[in-house]
Amino acid sequence: GQPTDNILVAENVSKRFGGFLAVSNLNLAVRRGSIHALIGPNGAGKTTCFNLLTKALALSSGRIMFNGSDISDLRSAAVAKRGLVRSFQISATFPNLTVLENVRVALQAKHGKSYHFWRSIHSIDSLNARALELIGEVGLSASQGVTAAELSYGKKRALEIATTLALEPELLLLDEPTAGMGHEDIEPITDLIRRVAVGRTVLLVEHNLSVVSTLCDRITVLQHGQIIADGTYAEVSANPLVRTAYLGE
Ligand code: ADP
Repeated sequence: GQPTDNILVAENVSKRFGGFLAVSNLNLAVRRGSIHALIGPNGAGKTTCFNLLTKALALSSGRIMFNGSDISDLRSAAVAKRGLVRSFQISATFPNLTVLENVRVALQAKHGKSYHFWRSIHSIDSLNARALELIGEVGLSASQGVTAAELSYGKKRALEIATTLALEPELLLLDEPTAGMGHEDIEPITDLIRRVAVGRTVLLVEHNLSVVSTLCDRITVLQHGQIIADGTYAEVSANPLVRTAYLGE
């Protein structure tokens, strides 16, 4: 059974690039069902952490536990198969395919070799039905026949999330979900993340602190590859180390 309710635990994880220690003795616990943010100034090591957690990069030392088992030596595809999935990495969207076709392709990619899936999906109609469920979940039902290229920036992001959901993540890693978004897209994507987090866990890198403060249950602050604070937004934003290092006070 589960000794704790943490879906993901990184223990003393370090990453060295030549002589440079990009991530140093990281100890991170992500609670099941939470929305957890990783924040910090540029160069703090956030992207490297994501790459380590998804096994896109090999660890220099330490251990990563997912759902109680050690994934340190697994490849990124195997990690994704277990339900630790990073958006915008494994799934891709095709500009000339419609929203429905894109999600269908993602479902086919996920289940390509699964006899049980194809046995349960008797026809293109039932494949469409599953795709439409996911499209509804991200609020794109009205755009199902529109090509990805024609979608607004915010809706493209929603489609990317739908194709990621097709991979059935238990823990979804989102890399700067609001990056490049105008003000009008911020609230819809925040609402969307809150919705997809129901029954799942979300870990995100996010620069917009007002998004972090309204969306996230827990925040981990990195600086120079080390955790300098960990807690609720109120806790980390009151931390003098964070105020000096990150908020520039
Ligand atoms: P963040 O995402 O917080 O901006 P990164 O994880 O991208 O930070 O980078 C952390 C540090 O590691 C930076 O100093 C960066 O230059 C360095 N770094 C990242 N990837 C590599 C690499 N492949 N080789 C050498 N140094 C790297």
